[in-house]
Amino acid sequence: MEQAMDIAFLGTGTSQGVPMIAHEADGLDLQDPRNWRTRTSAHIWMGGQRLQIDVGPEFRLQCLRNQIDQVDYVLMTHGHADHIMGMDDLRRHVDLRAGKALPVYGNLETLERLQQVFPYAIHEQAPVKGYPAFSLREFPSTLDLPCGRIQSTPLPHGRSDTLGLVFTEKKTGQKLAYFTDCKEVTPAARALAENADILVIDALRPEPHPSHLHLDGALEIALALGARQTFFIHMTFAVDHERYNDTLPDNIRLAHDGLKVNVGTLEETTREPVWA
Ligand SMILES: [Zn+2]
Ligand SMILES: [Zn+2]
Repeated sequence: MEQAMDIAFLGTGTSQGVPMIAHEADGLDLQDPRNWRTRTSAHIWMGGQRLQIDVGPEFRLQCLRNQIDQVDYVLMTHGHADHIMGMDDLRRHVDLRAGKALPVYGNLETLERLQQVFPYAIHEQAPVKGYPAFSLREFPSTLDLPCGRIQSTPLPHGRSDTLGLVFTEKKTGQKLAYFTDCKEVTPAARALAENADILVIDALRPEPHPSHLHLDGALEIALALGARQTFFIHMTFAVDHERYNDTLPDNIRLAHDGLKVNVGTLEETTREPVWA
């Protein structure tokens, strides 16, 4: 059977990472490697193409752990530091495509931010071997790629919007919705995510937060959308993996760093950290 789409959770932590610098573990079991969370991002294999969602500060280590040896498209959900600050390390992936710029998709606000932070990387071809090269492109509401379709839709995230992304693989119709960093999932986004095989959704912490979904909010949306499998991401130190996972229905779970899931079979594998 064709194994058309996979997702690897490169990072599943909130903006400060977990555990946090100079902070007590507070009931978080640090013997459990699933509680060590790098900044949230994901990598998708879709019909032979390789899509990188966000590029956080630990991107290099995430690539090593998850053996990410190719990137064809970079998809930015928004321009917050925890989602863009690893982009300089895309230079290696640019090298691997002979210096040809990586297409980087985002909303206008995100592209503006990238221009400010990485002005030296905005060109169609790396001028010198080893330089990053980004070709910035506004994310259309429907992006048709040879491997399938990506639909994008704004999600409220404090003072700015995040792009919610819905992937549909061409041959199999396998569908994955990725809603990180959002306070709400709009009716338009819910419609796009209908019949998804996998839903990935922001679930920051037990307490409500002004610009993120909290655990109960994410759970309510997960139940309403009814994907075959839902994974929570972007958690803080206040969420112990095992303790909270045990309270959830079988098809709704916390993701963890290094977890790779096949969107068709829902089969899972985990890659261990390489730097321990
Ligand atoms: Zn974030
Ligand atoms: Zn954010």
